[in-house]
Amino acid sequence: MPHLLIAEDDDLLRDGLGTLLRQAGHSVATAADGRAALALLEASRFDGVILDLGLPLVSGMEVLRSIRLRLNALPVLILTARDGVEDRVQGLNAGADDYLTKPFSIDELEARLGAMLRRARLPAFGGSLELPAGSAGRLRIDPLQPLAWLGDEPLELTQREWALLSLLVSHAGQVVSREAVLGAWQAEPAEGGAIGSNALEVYVHRLRRKLAGSSLNIRNVRGLGYLLEAPGA
Ligand code: CA
Repeated sequence: MPHLLIAEDDDLLRDGLGTLLRQAGHSVATAADGRAALALLEASRFDGVILDLGLPLVSGMEVLRSIRLRLNALPVLILTARDGVEDRVQGLNAGADDYLTKPFSIDELEARLGAMLRRARLPAFGGSLELPAGSAGRLRIDPLQPLAWLGDEPLELTQREWALLSLLVSHAGQVVSREAVLGAWQAEPAEGGAIGSNALEVYVHRLRRKLAGSSLNIRNVRGLGYLLEAPGA
């Protein structure tokens, strides 16, 4: 059952959405301001977020940035005002997966939300990556910060290396597309300029070196992407 977070300060809308989505079989938590949303995101794992950009205390945009920094591929649907074109553009640039403008119909919400959750389960979109405390062989990845351990040895990772490794581990044995990695990196703070395929090669190379000595191998699947091979995992 998908576990959803609704962050919306309009009581009627928040309660209405909550009731509807529960009836549709989702498990739902709600937050009336940005600070409460961040606290809930810290406390539990969600499969998707419906996020009003105009939230009190901490803005929806700040909540979105925080999500993208820490839980890269958590699907986020933003809600914006009808005339909030700039908000939508900013939100999408900050890593929102989709948006709805208020007022919206429930049918449209269900359709968009359903599509977003389906996409998130497809490895090609890199989505089901909720950065679980994944494990492959003796590799452990911290779900919230750029840390990992090979056995008891800590791995020093940059934010992007950690996001890449988390994506590979959560899809171990499956090919992860380049697009999925670049998508997961979208809202990361710049780490040496623009992100391109060449940069990705460099990060994969660096990660391979850091994993050297483990049983893990990152295989380049020509034209498709990367595959983490974890014998015995
Ligand atoms: Ca609002």
